[in-house]
Amino acid sequence: MSELVVMKFGGTSIGSAERIKNVAGIVGDARQIIQPVVVVSAMATVTDSLLNAAIHAASKQRSKLELELLRLKTLHMDTIVGLQLSDHEQGQLDKKVEGLLSELTNLLESIYLLGELTPRARDMILSFGERFSIQLVASAFTSAGVDAKAIEASQLIVTNESFGNARPLLEESIPKTKSQIKKLLAKNKVPVITGFIGATTQGITTTLGRGGSDYTATIIGHCLDADEVWIFTDVDGAMTADPRIIPNARTIPALSYAEAAELSYFGAKVLHPLTMVPASLKNIPIWVKNTFNPDAPGTRIARHVYFAEKVSKAISSMNGLSLVTVQGQGMSGVPGIAAKVFSSIAAQNINVLLISQASSEYNICFVVKQDDGAKAVSILRKAFESEMKTHSIESVKLDDNLAIMAVVGEGMRGYPGMAGMIFSSLGDAGVNIVAIAQGSSELNISLVVAQDDVTTAVQCVHDVFHLTDSRVRPK
Ligand code: ADP
Ligand code: ASP
Ligand code: MG
Repeated sequence: MSELVVMKFGGTSIGSAERIKNVAGIVGDARQIIQPVVVVSAMATVTDSLLNAAIHAASKQRSKLELELLRLKTLHMDTIVGLQLSDHEQGQLDKKVEGLLSELTNLLESIYLLGELTPRARDMILSFGERFSIQLVASAFTSAGVDAKAIEASQLIVTNESFGNARPLLEESIPKTKSQIKKLLAKNKVPVITGFIGATTQGITTTLGRGGSDYTATIIGHCLDADEVWIFTDVDGAMTADPRIIPNARTIPALSYAEAAELSYFGAKVLHPLTMVPASLKNIPIWVKNTFNPDAPGTRIARHVYFAEKVSKAISSMNGLSLVTVQGQGMSGVPGIAAKVFSSIAAQNINVLLISQASSEYNICFVVKQDDGAKAVSILRKAFESEMKTHSIESVKLDDNLAIMAVVGEGMRGYPGMAGMIFSSLGDAGVNIVAIAQGSSELNISLVVAQDDVTTAVQCVHDVFHLTDSRVRPK
């Protein structure tokens, strides 16, 4: 039996009729040697359009809503024409897509009437991007001689009820996914599954968070005990830095699950940060490959640690952040302050990205998304009202317009002088470091800098570790 491989294609990879045909070719070729199960995103720009449409509906902006709906309809209908299907196939596909469009229009009209967009309704609206794209992709495959069947992952992946950020319940998802997908594979059909979505035990549609189709691919891989998961995107693999910021960034041949998770957690958009979890639970290797250059080797992500000749492998960065600092001489030696800070923040569902505490315990600072900054400060001022009256806490303050830069690599573990090299290079470049954190695993050093300095900072550390000419070789 040939190996079972989940192949995921992102929005740009299926962004036009030509690109969808290109993907049909890649899957057709792969099918000669492996058994593919395909996961696709919405076509590029579609999820953003759907989100805009939902916001316009809730704020009763009729003309903007109609424009967005027209844009979605035109994109999908023009793409169908471009696929050059037989009259019969095109007729069937038109009918399916028109059915989805009228379902979407009705839902948006209900949101318009209510004047309110709940997280549950938003997930329902966002699910349409992938529900459209599987129909187009499956038809294009079948027309190219790759017999395919479109499947909505709400039939396969069971999630909790955290709308907008749902988490899969793997034990419940395994039997559903196995039974339905194995049936199709037995009939020699290629399943084309929606990325990004799932459903609660009650069958209500959820989404896994923006960029979640990568996560879908490894969830499906986990459920099917796949041999590998291949994530096809628009660059040659995971790179030493974001290629849009650092033009001389290079593709990294190999990463451990932990390294890839750290990079994506701190902003490397190439993978959803949770992608590695379902794969690592079953030790399934992930490959990141380029749809537009499929012969390039790509990046292999697996449990084994591959040492680089350079100690650090990559740098990622994230903008639009705020630093909250809780400060006071009276904090020193008082137990429970950190616990109170973080439990108050967690109770309001605010995500903390990085924590740093001075050894004097004179202050605790942490980073949140800028949108959450003001709320975090007001929660803490209320929570510590009595401590502020007695001056054991002097201030809770907010700094905006910050960025995190994370330097990642398993080789950094136990390597002396890493932090020194980073700090002195940034000092030479005139970049002020606002805060520092190093995970106890020592595979990541994270620095908070002003957003205006982050490109200089990433370029500077990329240069200091010579990442452009690094050659990371498996041992
Ligand atoms: P897809 O639609 O295929 O899921 P995404 O746009 O979500 O693709 O992710 C791919 C993009 O991630 C690349 O085009 C690149 O600009 C960006 N990116 C950011 N950091 C990195 C990195 N370290 N390595 C590779 N790509 C990165
Ligand atoms: N379509 C979804 C998004 O744009 C999921 C994905 O592309 O991975 O976020
Ligand atoms: Mg993506």
